[in-house]
Amino acid sequence: MDSTTVLDLFRRCEGLLEGHFQLSSGLHSGGYLQCARVLQHPEHAAALGAALAQQMARLGPAVVLSPALGGVVIGHEVARALGVRAVFAERRDGRLTLRRGFELAPGERVLVVEDVVTTGGSTRETIEVATAAGGTVVGAAAIIDRGAGPMTFDVPFDALARTPLPTYESAACPLCAAGQPVAKPGSRSA
Ligand code: ZN
Repeated sequence: MDSTTVLDLFRRCEGLLEGHFQLSSGLHSGGYLQCARVLQHPEHAAALGAALAQQMARLGPAVVLSPALGGVVIGHEVARALGVRAVFAERRDGRLTLRRGFELAPGERVLVVEDVVTTGGSTRETIEVATAAGGTVVGAAAIIDRGAGPMTFDVPFDALARTPLPTYESAACPLCAAGQPVAKPGSRSA
C-alpha cells in the first residue's frame, strides 16, 4: 500500500480533511487528521496493519507495543499480520506505563507502533517504556508521519504515508492572512 493509496483511503473516510482548521490545541493548520475515522472500519485497520507489518517484518519483532488509546487498534492489526503478541502502554498518574498483565521477556524484540507521529514524542516515550520493561526496541512505525521534518529515533522508523501538516499560531497563520474561513473539526461549525 503506497502513500497515495493510504492518503486516498483517509480522505474517503474523512480521516483527512484539507482546508483551514483550528485544532483543539488552538493552533491552525491546513489539514486535519483523525485516524479513528478510518480505523473504526475493521477491514481498513486490517489492511493498514498488514501493509505496515510487511514493511517492518525484516526487523524480526517478537512483540508489538503501542501507546493507548490511539495506537492500540493498529498495533493489534500489525501484530496479527506478523503473528506476534500485541501489548500496549497506558498513562497512569501522568506516566506512560506497560498495562498491567503485560510483560516483556528480557531482550525481547519490540516494534513500537502508532497511528500518527507529529513530533515523535509519544514514540520516544513508548520506546522508553519498552526499554524499562526489559525489551530491546528494534524499530518504530506509524500509519502516517505528519511531521514537518524527518523523524529521528535511535531505531529504524517507517510510516505508510507522509503528509507534512504544519501548524501555526493564528496570528502567524498564512491561511488566515489569505482570508480563508476557519473550521473547527469535531464541532458543529466544521
Ligand atoms: Zn488560520
